[in-house]
Amino acid sequence: MPVKKYQCQQCGYKGSQLLQGKCPACGDANIENVLKNPPAEKEACPIRMLLLITLWCILLYKGYTILIA
Ligand SMILES: [Zn+2]
Repeated sequence: MPVKKYQCQQCGYKGSQLLQGKCPACGDANIENVLKNPPAEKEACPIRMLLLITLWCILLYKGYTILIA
């Protein structure tokens, strides 16, 4: 079971427990869930690049065959 971690946007307090939904250090309700957004963009990037390169290859190839014919 993953432990939820929070960071206070007001004072920067990091912790896994909140005091009634508020920061235990300064009492502010501006809390961000730290584990909410795992870094997943690094895995999706190479696939997107490959797709883009493939699309460009098809486009260039089609343009080339039109020029020849
Ligand atoms: Zn705080």
